[in-house]
Parts: sequence; C-alpha cells; structure tokens
Amino acid sequence: MTVSVTGATGFIGRRLVQRLHADNHRIHVLTRSRSKAELIFPVKDFPGIVIAEEPGWKDCIQGSDGVVNLAGLPISTRWSSEIKKEIKQSRIRVTSKVVDLINDAPDAVRPTVLVSATAVGYYGSSETQVFDERSPSGNDYLAEVCREWEATALRVNKDVRLALIRIGVVLGKDGGALAKMIPLFMMFAGGPLGSGKQWFSWIHLDDIVNLIYEALSNPSYKGVINGTAPNPVRLTEMCEQLGNVMGRPSWLPVPDLALKAVLGEGASVVLEGQRVLPARAKELGFPFKYSYVKDALKAILS
Ligand code: NDP
Repeated sequence: MTVSVTGATGFIGRRLVQRLHADNHRIHVLTRSRSKAELIFPVKDFPGIVIAEEPGWKDCIQGSDGVVNLAGLPISTRWSSEIKKEIKQSRIRVTSKVVDLINDAPDAVRPTVLVSATAVGYYGSSETQVFDERSPSGNDYLAEVCREWEATALRVNKDVRLALIRIGVVLGKDGGALAKMIPLFMMFAGGPLGSGKQWFSWIHLDDIVNLIYEALSNPSYKGVINGTAPNPVRLTEMCEQLGNVMGRPSWLPVPDLALKAVLGEGASVVLEGQRVLPARAKELGFPFKYSYVKDALKAILS
C-alpha cells in the first residue's frame, strides 16, 4: 500500500510511519518542513520514504492508496486568542487541502481511503455522562473545533471511504500529555490533578497506531470511531496508578495552576475530561493491546 501522511513528524505520526515502514508499505510524508522531516526519518533508517513540502503534496496524494491526516497546531499550549484561532484554522486548512487534492484527483489515481484525526473533545466535558459515537457534540471551544474539523473531512468524495478517529489522550513515553505530566507529578510527589473526579479517556500509543493502521486497510472501518481504551478512568485513579508504577506516593494534589503552567489552557483537555467509550471499535472486534491504564502505564514507564 502507498500511504500519504500529514502530521507524520508528530507524536502519533512518527510511530505510525515506523509501523508502516516496518511492514514494507510505501510512505509519503506530507510536511511543512522537509529539513525537520529528514531529521526524523533519516534515509539510512527509512530508505525509499518520500518527503514532500507543498506544492509536492498533490503528486503524493494522487497515486496513494490511502491518506492519513494528523496535522494540527498542538493543543497543549497557552491559548491566546491568536493561538485559539490557529488551533482551529491549522486543522481546517490542512484537512481542506487534503480533501481538495483527493477530490480533484482523476478517478484512476484517487486514494480509496482517508483516515482523519479528530478528538474526544467533540463531546464536551462532563463528570457524569457516558459518551459513544452516537452522542451529540458539546458546546465548548474544543467541541466547536472538532465539529468544524470533522465537517471539513466529510466534504471528501463519497467514493472515498472516510474513517474519522475521535482520539482520546494518547499515552506514550516520548510525547503527548504524559511526558508533560510526569515531571510535574514527580515534583508534587503525585496526587490527583484538580478535583480528581474528572474522567480521563486515554489510549496507549500502540493502540491508536494500530487502530489507524487497521482503518487504512479494513473496509469495515468507516465513519466515526472513538480512539479510546475500553476503560476510561477518573483522574484520581490515573494518578494513583501513575504513582504506583513510578514507585511514588500519591498524596499531594497537584494544583490546577501548576498543570496549567506546563500545559497552558490546553490543560483543560486533562482538567475537564469526558468518559468516552470505544463502542464502534468493540463492534468491529478491534483487539486492544491495553484495556487498563495500569498495564498501559507499566508498559510505558518500565
Ligand atoms: P503533534 O502535535 O505531535 O503533531 C502534529 C503535526 O502537525 C506536527 O508534527 C506538524 O507536522 C503539524 N503541525 C503542527 N503545527 C501545525 C500548523 N500550525 N499547521 C499545520 N500543521 C501543523 O500531534 P499528535 O501526533 O499528538 O496528534 C496528531 C493529531 O491527533 C492532532 O491533530 C491532534 O490534535 C490529534 N489528537 C491527539 C491527541 C493526543 O493525545 N496526542 C488527542 C486527541 C487528538 P509538520 O511540521 O511536519 O508539518
């Protein structure tokens, strides 16, 4: 299979490219910065990989079997009004470009599948509700971003199979929220973040990569699919498990303010969570490698 990937240089994308490359697929890395991508994917380790900046995306997409769209300005940052605008616009801009290139492609070279990222922020936040793919969208800023992001992907040609993956908080060692939370957790000896009652819908990096990989090749993966583990936890439990795995006591609450200092207003992703279940992935029989946060954290931190 030939696969074009936007956001390939990011936390999830890097692992996805490694996985695709290991399985001998041809990969087109669609990036804003060739030099950055060349450092991340050196030719000696990734022979045959194609790296393209604009305007080279067109030739890459036309001729690919599938496209994975992961690009967007990171959310875990300080949110000025400018940044908020760019968080939304970066996702809409790249998704729109990808969709236009797919739609404009002659039939013979049009990719047959688009796997496009979105986020569980779609549902808004709640300490009591349980959300699955049929649940309505929330009414906060992140819900609005996700709705518009998804609506842009939905413009893709109807002959192209579209899988929209609503991703939860991805747990992995070298990036994402966990990498930022661990030093903070160490500093405060670890304890609940904020009130601790908020839900934390997490997924291990290996599982989100496997889910995207499966969505590329399996025609049953279509429409919205939540990319979250089967057992979301409240933040208190997440912190307790993190404390256990790290061999540190879990007794001092980490103040919201400290979390906001490292994650910016993007801390809301952690501080105002939602309980999201992967109903579709379970229906599809997706084999989660990590269903429990304890096992995921052990695998990441050991
Ligand atoms: P990263 O932040 O690690 O990487 C995203 C990539 O997007 C970058 O490598 C970059 O690629 C590109 N990018 C960054 N800023 C911009 C911009 N202003 N305009 C266009 N492109 C930009 O993301 P993740 O790998 O963590 O996540 C991938 C996608 O999944 C994101 O869209 C994210 O919102 C979503 N998601 C992630 C979650 C997580 O926990 N990680 C949770 C929920 C959703 P380049 O420089 O090569 O162009």
